[in-house]
Amino acid sequence: MTRGRHFLQIPGPSPVPERVLRAMDMPVIDHRGPEFAKLGREVLDGCKAVFQTSGPVIIYPSSGTGAWESAIVNTLSSGDKVLMSETGHFATLWHQMAVRWGIKPEFLPGDWRRGVDPDAIHARLAEDKAREIKAVMVVHNETSTGVTSRIAEIRKAIDKAGHPALLLVDTISSLGSADYRHEEWGVDVTVSCSQKGLMLPPGLGFTAVSEKALAASKTNNLPRSYWDWHEMLKPNAGGFFPYTPATNLLYGLREAINMLLEEGLENLFARHNRLAAATRAAVNAWGLEILCQDPREYSPVLTAVVMPDGHGADNFRKVVLENYNMSLGAGLTKLAGRVFRIGHLGECNELTLLGAISGVEMGFELCGVPHKKGGVDAAMRSLTGNGEAAQPAARAVA
Ligand SMILES: *Cc1c(COP(=O)(O)O)cnc(C)c1O
Repeated sequence: MTRGRHFLQIPGPSPVPERVLRAMDMPVIDHRGPEFAKLGREVLDGCKAVFQTSGPVIIYPSSGTGAWESAIVNTLSSGDKVLMSETGHFATLWHQMAVRWGIKPEFLPGDWRRGVDPDAIHARLAEDKAREIKAVMVVHNETSTGVTSRIAEIRKAIDKAGHPALLLVDTISSLGSADYRHEEWGVDVTVSCSQKGLMLPPGLGFTAVSEKALAASKTNNLPRSYWDWHEMLKPNAGGFFPYTPATNLLYGLREAINMLLEEGLENLFARHNRLAAATRAAVNAWGLEILCQDPREYSPVLTAVVMPDGHGADNFRKVVLENYNMSLGAGLTKLAGRVFRIGHLGECNELTLLGAISGVEMGFELCGVPHKKGGVDAAMRSLTGNGEAAQPAARAVA
């Protein structure tokens, strides 16, 4: 028997706030009627603020994987070369999808502990004198590793090479949690979905598209029907959709956008950074290793923790679930059993996080995982602004 609230501390799907749940508790309406058009226009406009773009954002009834496919089939042609970077499990899956579509991706190798290297992107594009590479496709927040790539620097790398490649970015787990600016960073297609930073149930996929991406979609040759941007954009102009939209998820989306904008994007990003820093303070206090190797790339969305040798992450997660009613993220593919992931995104606040960190620390105790005590204390000090004390290196000064 479990009592109390389940702690869903995986990096997506993330907990859905009460406000969003209540906003979705509505009758389904005629999706060709005037009441729907108002809802449609509100969410289509509202999305622009969240993606930080003045261009169109297309909403599909789909998972994030569908939105990945939309980005590919609307911009590329069979046999096109693209440049991708192996940052982790999700970059690998997007790469596989591109291969299945007959795209020829070059996959810059990675060790799943670092983000996309802007210098490597620059070097490869500068070499491409014939301008054969049609797109750079990268994952902003690699949810399998807790590493966030520096998209603005990747944009600069492309510009420095004077290369015309499109920039396609997966923000599936970062949108609404980590700072992200579609227009200012010159991104051509931003892919996202509903169940992570946007705090909605699964079921909506998004693509924000630039003028340049729209132009590419008029001449590329991959076949599509359901995913076709132009089929969407025509009815979207009046607030409608070409097929039955996920009406109740759109009610939820309207409320979620209101919540994000009421908090203010800057405050929202600052909150995520604060929670992430407190989580890392706990991991450092435990004497365990954070998977991400470059402090510039620490994820505001989740923290992946490396288990000490000889201790399986999956047994640990099972013990935490059974004893404390908390779900932690598993290690995926290459990282299976070796890491667990703490999500601190969306609805998460200080006390939720401290509850989660307490559950992890108690789980270590139950499983006999070697660790130092005091992770919760270090997180509390980080959250109240005494974070330096949480860093072992800074202790010598005191
Ligand atoms: C979750 C996730 C996906 C896959 O999204 P689905 O909704 O499960 O299809 C893709 N990329 C990243 C970075 C993710 O976090």
